[in-house]
Amino acid sequence: MTLPYRTLDRDWDVIVAGGGTAGAMAAIAAARTGARVLTIEAQGSLGGTGTNAWVTPLMRNVSAGENLNRGLTDELKRRLDARGDGATDPGGNDNWFNPEGMKFVLEHMLLEAGGEVLYHTHVVAPLMAEGRLEEPRSGEQRAEGEGRSTIDALVVHNKGGLQALRAAAFIDATGDADVAALSGVPMRGGDDDGVHQAMSLRFTLAGVDTVRLCAFLRSQGQWQESEHFLHFWMVWEKNSTLEPLFRRAVEAGVLLERDGDYFQGFSVPGRPGEISFNCPRIRPDLHDGADPWQLSAAQVDGRQAIDRLTAFCRAFLPGCETAFIGVVAPMVGVRESRRITGEYTLTLEDILDCAQFDDAICRNHYPVDIHSVKGGDRLLHDREGTAPYFAKDAYHEIPLRCIVPVGVTNLLVPGRAASSTFEAQSSIRVQQNCHTMGEAAGITAAWAAQRCGGHVRGVDVQAVREELRDRGGVV
Ligand SMILES: Cc1cc2nc3c(=O)[nH]c(=O)nc-3n(C[C@H](O)[C@H](O)[C@H](O)COP(=O)(O)OP(=O)(O)OC[C@H]3O[C@@H](n4cnc5c(N)ncnc54)[C@H](O)[C@@H]3O)c2cc1C
Repeated sequence: MTLPYRTLDRDWDVIVAGGGTAGAMAAIAAARTGARVLTIEAQGSLGGTGTNAWVTPLMRNVSAGENLNRGLTDELKRRLDARGDGATDPGGNDNWFNPEGMKFVLEHMLLEAGGEVLYHTHVVAPLMAEGRLEEPRSGEQRAEGEGRSTIDALVVHNKGGLQALRAAAFIDATGDADVAALSGVPMRGGDDDGVHQAMSLRFTLAGVDTVRLCAFLRSQGQWQESEHFLHFWMVWEKNSTLEPLFRRAVEAGVLLERDGDYFQGFSVPGRPGEISFNCPRIRPDLHDGADPWQLSAAQVDGRQAIDRLTAFCRAFLPGCETAFIGVVAPMVGVRESRRITGEYTLTLEDILDCAQFDDAICRNHYPVDIHSVKGGDRLLHDREGTAPYFAKDAYHEIPLRCIVPVGVTNLLVPGRAASSTFEAQSSIRVQQNCHTMGEAAGITAAWAAQRCGGHVRGVDVQAVREELRDRGGVV
């Protein structure tokens, strides 16, 4: 059956599928080269998991006291702070932000750079066009390019029906590598048993008396900076002082046992009296965010758990008696689903050995951080262990090849779907690394379109690294 799509009478240098954490940065970076850029986003705002799944802390990625993600990330933080929508966490996280503010900042940066965005539009499928693009320049590159296919356009669905949108180069920043998967790129997913990290549906409670909550948490031995900057948690058998409260709530039938598998609350800059929760964790049998049935069931399961957690907070946490649900995140939080097979696959050994690469685009010192549905979460922290990676000034690099999928000439895949093993992905997936991978992808795709007929392997990677440095990056 042929789909009844119509091809739009316009084209772009670069189309970015998914305007999320990596995609928004990719689009901004590409537009700043002067490229004609279109971002296609399923939701009505940019930022992806950071905004629409309400993941409001930027996890710390520091080596020798310096943040490893600079460039566009620094600019983003400055702009958030200027609006009162960003704040530095004295407890260690580099930056917390108000996701509504983030949506404004990203959209402004994209439009200011001359980029376009098409919201409420789903990428349905790539249209492959063998041999349309110019061949790469050198004989060596041409040999490497043999057997690869080329994307001509993306078929999207929106209120206009099905439309094909054409570009020279494409960036798949859908998080689940939707475009790559449908282009025939070999995929991986989950651990050795195919089991993915746990999903979570984040929410907020508004109307919280944070002065009383802060006093209570301090009385429970949970250190708090001030009532403006709360961070509290409970995980069974991890010595949280809140565990007895959870036990009583389970016995009283307010909570289910699994509601205590992971519970964490944070303040949100720019939103006084509101607490954002990094939970509930979704039922363990629902772990594949790229499976539409599981994703939908996760939404239902999460909402039911939010009702229980709200009742718990009202009954057991002083200051929350009259709190109400402020937000249920529009997107279920997916930590890991599909991962592409790229020209290089980052491994745990690369992380522990502080691997460096000639084509490095990003530096990482965030630990392996696996939220496991099998139980026994794993967090390799930089304060432990004897491998080189555990030194305070250590870091490893992520090569450009991790975002270059095998088998396609004109596609890049930055973000949590980058080519990596299960363990390595759990470390590089944090937002600031997605920003930096996105920024590198944007420059590379733009130059591929402008200089190499769309062929991403034709771009001089040392020139990309130089450009990243000129834009404030550390590579
Ligand atoms: C619950 C949870 C807690 C986390 N905690 C932290 C934390 O505290 N700090 C931290 O730094 N990181 C944290 N992370 C990790 C980090 O937030 C993510 O790994 C990162 O944001 C992923 O970025 P991405 O660009 O790959 O995908 P996303 O940000 O998810 O972007 C994908 C975008 O593509 C869009 N899209 C998807 N499919 C399509 C399609 N077919 N057509 C059109 N658009 C599409 C989506 O709407 C979305 O906007 C957490 C993640 C989760 C899930």
